Amino acid sequence: MSHYSIQCRNCGKILENTYCAFCEHCKDALLVTRYNDTRFDERAAGGVWRFNWLPVHEPTIEQPGPLVYRSGGLAKHLGLADLYIAFNGYWPERGALLKTCTFKEFEAAVVLQNARENGVEGLVVASAGNTARAFAHLSVVTGFPVVIVVPRMCLGEMWYLEHSSAVPTIAIGDGDYADSIDVARNISLSLGFPFEGGVKNIAKRDGLGIVMLEAVSKIGKLPDHYVQAVGSGTGAVGGWEMAERFVRDGRFGSRPPVLHLGQNLPFAPMLHAWEKESRALFPEDLDPDLISLITTRVLSTRYPAYSVKGGVFDALTATNGKMYGIENDAVYAGMKLFLASECIDIVPASGVAVAVLNEAVRTGAIKKHETVLLNITGGGEARLKQDHKVHTVVPKFISKNATDKDIEEKLCHVLKKSS
Ligand SMILES: [Zn+2]
Repeated sequence: MSHYSIQCRNCGKILENTYCAFCEHCKDALLVTRYNDTRFDERAAGGVWRFNWLPVHEPTIEQPGPLVYRSGGLAKHLGLADLYIAFNGYWPERGALLKTCTFKEFEAAVVLQNARENGVEGLVVASAGNTARAFAHLSVVTGFPVVIVVPRMCLGEMWYLEHSSAVPTIAIGDGDYADSIDVARNISLSLGFPFEGGVKNIAKRDGLGIVMLEAVSKIGKLPDHYVQAVGSGTGAVGGWEMAERFVRDGRFGSRPPVLHLGQNLPFAPMLHAWEKESRALFPEDLDPDLISLITTRVLSTRYPAYSVKGGVFDALTATNGKMYGIENDAVYAGMKLFLASECIDIVPASGVAVAVLNEAVRTGAIKKHETVLLNITGGGEARLKQDHKVHTVVPKFISKNATDKDIEEKLCHVLKKSS
């Protein structure tokens, strides 16, 4: 018998055998994992698989977790008494061993393991960068086939741990991340592999929630505040869902942490909707031209998990949370401050998170004595490059308006090359 079932956020229906789907009644609500064991537990297994709240049965690969530690330098700079950092990246001197340098590696590991256990034979993944690298790496490590679709505008910042020819990768020459998602759906239809499902995939959210599992394991209680940069918001929702499980457990605190979420201005559709107390996003905030103006392209999705029942709007409402808009200059300042105070490099999205924390402390939204968890979603790329060679991504290009025939031709080519 499985140690979990899947439940609709809206109507409460329990779905027994469901993979990447919405409830049959409620098309606009997320499904969530219900673990039979309501008490948090850690088994003797290594890495992330020691946690009992993951939707996998018999993991076959090793997967290191995040490094969660009590901050010295940054805490002192901000005057915080109890700041914890979840560092997701490569920093072997401190025990951080994610060579893809992103927390998306947890997502990829849990999603692939969960897919395999559900009889799925391959996946199509759309990404603005980090997710692509994580899935490419786990595809090579596990031998599980993955086709990756990315926008051309993100290629400049992209790299793979493995040689690019090992993983079929398609770039949308004339579109953004949202167009990549549309093309990925078409590819998934013509290939017969499921689309990995974005925020709807419970394995994706629970995988990203590993940061909260590791943090509570380390801190011994739920933090008062949780700080993260958001693109789709999937990681923040995953963290919130894990926090709710800890509240139900009862031994780690009685309320989930207040969410402090940041977007990089001027592309900040969730920020603008939240400021207007709106569950719906506004079309003018989703203008693709705004994306070229931000420094953190990985945060550029026009399909965030905001309005859906159980998504970012509900997570912010439930935790009395806040959204922040961060200018490019503050992103760079955040990266610089973190390097100077914690002695390790971080990616621009993490620079957004540091800037959010700075702002929350400055405005008094976070008090100096409160326990804070800062999610550094990616870092250590410069450190990694001292030890490892990384590879540029060489994709096959396709138009966002590609016909099924175009897709088939490109895919035959890519799949043949990679096999
Ligand atoms: Zn339902």
